[in-house]
Amino acid sequence: MQLLDGTACSQQIRQEIAVEVKAIVAAGKRPPHLAAVLVGDDGASQNYVKMKVRDCEEVGFGSTTIRMDASSTETELLAKVEKLNRDEAIDGFIVQLPLPPQINENNVILAINPKKDVDGFCPANIGNLSLGLPTFVSATPNGIMELLKRYNIETEGKHCVVLGRSNIVGTPIAVLMSRDTNPGNATVTLAHSRTKNLKELCVSADILIVAIGKTEFVTAEMVKEGAVVIDVGQTRVPDSTRKSGFRNVGDVDFELVKNKCSFITFVTGGVGPMTRASLLQNTLKAYQRR
Ligand code: NAP
Repeated sequence: MQLLDGTACSQQIRQEIAVEVKAIVAAGKRPPHLAAVLVGDDGASQNYVKMKVRDCEEVGFGSTTIRMDASSTETELLAKVEKLNRDEAIDGFIVQLPLPPQINENNVILAINPKKDVDGFCPANIGNLSLGLPTFVSATPNGIMELLKRYNIETEGKHCVVLGRSNIVGTPIAVLMSRDTNPGNATVTLAHSRTKNLKELCVSADILIVAIGKTEFVTAEMVKEGAVVIDVGQTRVPDSTRKSGFRNVGDVDFELVKNKCSFITFVTGGVGPMTRASLLQNTLKAYQRR
């Protein structure tokens, strides 16, 4: 079994980006700039945004965090989005999800200028992804593809089972894995909560990508000997032995599954850092396209 090291891979990507930013600045131009809108005080969201800002600093990007009260209205948030759409100094921005219940996420996503949608959530970018046209691929699926590429994992002709059909992970990764690219060219099955015979399906997978948010759902008997397993799941569970009071648990029972796999990611240092690195890649792309 080989661990797919998202921390090391993402570090490599950040170094590559930092070199490009240095060249941009040396040419007398301003560096790329990412903005993040954070509504409310959800602990996980605050942490994600903090890490994204730190990543920007590391590669030499400018960054702006816009904090809004948990009681903010949809109209107020849409006004901020519109301002960012027009701001010449901002190349890309994200609105950290989830949003408070009084705000309709779809309305917000629809309001983002697709050219600045570095999360790749807008219909235009998702449409382009489906058509194989230039786009911003959403960060997590992009990070998974990058991980497969950098570890030279053979995907052509393989059976790839994706568990979970969310718009931000499951559906786009299923599209990417089935496209005529490398990595890609896999035969993809997209499974969800209504799928029958899930265990049999999983056991037939050469590549199993799990994004359902159910802790340790995938057990050893669901995994084929020699399979590649990508665990996207990240659920906070209380843990009094930790300073933070919680730990992250994946969708795969790592200890039981790891010895059956050729390659596997762990909940920590796996897909998460790759997601963050992909956001930087998309921001650089947004800058270059302008
Ligand atoms: P989501 O929107 O919560 O959707 C979950 C999906 O899983 C749905 O399609 C659901 O099916 C399916 N599902 C739920 N229970 C199932 C079951 N028992 N069997 C088969 N399918 C089942 O998912 P998400 O936003 O993609 O997030 C999934 C997990 O990935 C979460 O733990 C999240 O925190 C994590 N995540 C991690 C990163 C990262 O960077 N590491 C990024 C994004 C998400 P239905 O459609 O039928 O309801």
